Amino acid sequence: MKTVKIKNSDKETTIGKIVCVGRNYAEHAHELGNSIPEKPVVFLKTVSSVIYSGDKIVYPAYSNDMHHEVELVLLIGEVIKDADLETSEKAITGYGIGLDMTLRDVQSELKKKGFPWTTAKCFDTSTVLSDFIEKKFYQLTLDETISLKVNGEYRQKDQLSKMLHKPAGIVQYISSLMKLEHGDLIFTGTPKGVNKVESGDKLTAELDGLLKLECSVR
Ligand code: ZN
Repeated sequence: MKTVKIKNSDKETTIGKIVCVGRNYAEHAHELGNSIPEKPVVFLKTVSSVIYSGDKIVYPAYSNDMHHEVELVLLIGEVIKDADLETSEKAITGYGIGLDMTLRDVQSELKKKGFPWTTAKCFDTSTVLSDFIEKKFYQLTLDETISLKVNGEYRQKDQLSKMLHKPAGIVQYISSLMKLEHGDLIFTGTPKGVNKVESGDKLTAELDGLLKLECSVR
């Protein structure tokens, strides 16, 4: 069982499922040579792959090209299905930042074959989470900047306003595909600048001064 820790409190929420959207920033879709789909690309990550700030990301033996993807993560607080936009917004009860670590070499092979991305996305330690801030204490404006530094140098840094699909719209769309429940997490896609990490690299992700996570690659 893995939990989400709520910032400045003893509260923890048990994680349900982890739903991710891909290609939600135009410049990132282009840097990987992908077209921009009309609807978000949706995939899942496993809860058992979750680690936290301070932990180590472990390079699997079957990859030589692990990439960082820093993302805004939404915490869902209630059960919704086929929700409208207003209900979708209300169902978001907190925000965090996360790393959707991705084996790009494995993913490229899977894409060629038309296979699911599971083995590129769900290896142990592939999902890194910060603490979460509750929406009742902070309402996101999308003017915030999400960033990722590797060994002190910026690799990714973009305003959340560049998201093609905004948080409530993403939740609404996913709720049209599957039920969302209390404790579910939604990764909202990564901005441009994804790149390979090496063993020994130190990763620091931030959302303005609000949220921060630090980890290293083993
Ligand atoms: Zn991602």
